[in-house]
Amino acid sequence: MNWFIKGIKKGIKTEKFPQQSPEDVSIWSTKIVKNQGGTVECPTKSIEEEKWNPSRCIFCGRCYPQYSPSNDIGIFEIKQNNKLFKRSFYLYPIDIGTCGGCNFELKLLTSPQYDMSRFGIFFTNTPRHADALLVMGVITERMKEVLERAYDAMPNPKLVIALGTCAISGGLIGNNPEIKPDVIIYGCPPNPYTILKALIKAKGE
Ligand code: SF4
Ligand code: SF4
Repeated sequence: MNWFIKGIKKGIKTEKFPQQSPEDVSIWSTKIVKNQGGTVECPTKSIEEEKWNPSRCIFCGRCYPQYSPSNDIGIFEIKQNNKLFKRSFYLYPIDIGTCGGCNFELKLLTSPQYDMSRFGIFFTNTPRHADALLVMGVITERMKEVLERAYDAMPNPKLVIALGTCAISGGLIGNNPEIKPDVIIYGCPPNPYTILKALIKAKGE
């Protein structure tokens, strides 16, 4: 079918989020809450003394049914934001050793469904034009220097965003980059709604 006619028939595809709650959240990348008692064998020790630690969680589902996802997408932490980026916010994503999952979810933000450009959020292919360094993956030996050079090349002020369990804690491998993130986005991989919401907050909205 003619794509133009198909588009007109379907109407606008872009989400009403964040004005409206999302309808189709992938549940295993949302906040995990306790359901019932019982032993849990968490491979990353994300549940200790009945407390859930999102930093190490790989959302494998092994803790179900004692624990289950809640549909709460607000699993991110903003240690520092900057209102200077309110009108336009340029991100330089850097893959320092991912499985590809975080990259895939991040890329979705440019799709018509999420469309991050409506919030003034864009990607740049050079750190010299970037407001935020968006780090994904476990640090690999060869990427250490690349990561440092990218950070040094960015103009001030700048933010560092850790996207996904690998960048936050190293996940299963436990080899996390030595970065001090201003924004932490939990998930393995993080949900596109979570990423979008965190980015909007990071730019001071
Ligand atoms: S989802 Fe997996 S990693 Fe996360 S708390 Fe449950 S068992 Fe642990
Ligand atoms: S956090 Fe999960 S999805 Fe992202 S790179 Fe690591 S293993 Fe892959």
